[in-house]
Amino acid sequence: MSDATPQSSGPNPLCEIGRTHPRDKHRMKPLDGHSGIWECPRHEIFARILPPDEAGALDRGDAFAMHDGREGVVVRLGDERGGGQVVYYRFEG
Ligand SMILES: [Zn+2]
Repeated sequence: MSDATPQSSGPNPLCEIGRTHPRDKHRMKPLDGHSGIWECPRHEIFARILPPDEAGALDRGDAFAMHDGREGVVVRLGDERGGGQVVYYRFEG
């Protein structure tokens, strides 16, 4: 209904780990059962798109409620996409 909701369409985002290692670039893949969430099983990090104001309020290391209810932590903010911004996060444990 609202077209202000950021969409997760488009290419899968680059894995945060691979992004910083030019010889290990790889993309994340959609997470089964969780629409709009990507994962990198190799590095156990996840990504989703948040509205710019929500993403902009986050910093690396901030607590982040994960898609499965666990307490996660922000890894970093990624590219802008579809009216929102990619946020990388991982399980804190
Ligand atoms: Zn990775």
